[in-house]
Amino acid sequence: MPELPEVETVRRGLSPAMEGAVIAQAQVNRPNLRWPFPENMAARLTGTRVLALRRRSKYLLADLDNGETLLVHLGMSGRMTVSGDPLGQFVHDHPAAQKHDHVVFDMTNGARITFNDPRRFGAMDLLDTATANQHKLLSVLGPEPLGNDFHEDYLVEAFKGRNTPVKSALLDQGIIAGLGNIYVCEVLFRSQVSPRQKAGQISASRVAGLVPVIRDVLTDAIKAGGSSLKDFRQADGNLGYFQHSFDVYGREGAPCKRDGCSGIIDRITQSGRSTFLCGKCQR
Ligand SMILES: [Zn+2]
Repeated sequence: MPELPEVETVRRGLSPAMEGAVIAQAQVNRPNLRWPFPENMAARLTGTRVLALRRRSKYLLADLDNGETLLVHLGMSGRMTVSGDPLGQFVHDHPAAQKHDHVVFDMTNGARITFNDPRRFGAMDLLDTATANQHKLLSVLGPEPLGNDFHEDYLVEAFKGRNTPVKSALLDQGIIAGLGNIYVCEVLFRSQVSPRQKAGQISASRVAGLVPVIRDVLTDAIKAGGSSLKDFRQADGNLGYFQHSFDVYGREGAPCKRDGCSGIIDRITQSGRSTFLCGKCQR
């Protein structure tokens, strides 16, 4: 499932093909993904210019010159592919249409952007740009972890009196937008905080210490995604899926990577989801 760094990588990969370009033709091949598409979506998109491609949490937001914003969520299995050459210097053939290509944009610059989603948990919607933040999916989100509204004092205050495990608090999208299971496990491992600790019972200095770690973990992953973009064209044009090496996630039974720690990575279940931790150095 794509998390914030993957979505940011998709945004960076799409932006040269989309920003400033006009959608010459939008093709919508089915009535819905997770939810029905907005009415006349293909007609409303065709002929519009993409002014900016933004990201909020795990949502891509394309601001169009008709006053609407296209919201895209990749869901569990959604993929964006770019084919053709946006700069017109080379001619790459577009791949043959695949079974789950649900939405296709042909841009006037020659690029083709394809949204493929076998499981159809993804979503697209059209919102008024001026009131986009009030959309039901966006209005509930807390601050961006890499933005200025997320800082030490904010998190200390947000955790006060919370009786939920710190893992659940960090996954709460109303507290921080865009953190998912994988990166929360990594953050708690790097911080040496046990995922079982109650958020409200962790000292203020340890809570404050989570903030730079959250930023580092996400920035490192976005960097890894950025290097994958450099050669995505030589591969299959799929954006946002790149090789990761995690310190704790998915390493059940393996030795702890922290210098001097002889612990073994354990997997527990919290709120129905896997948590990976070193019981020896995470307290
Ligand atoms: Zn350890």
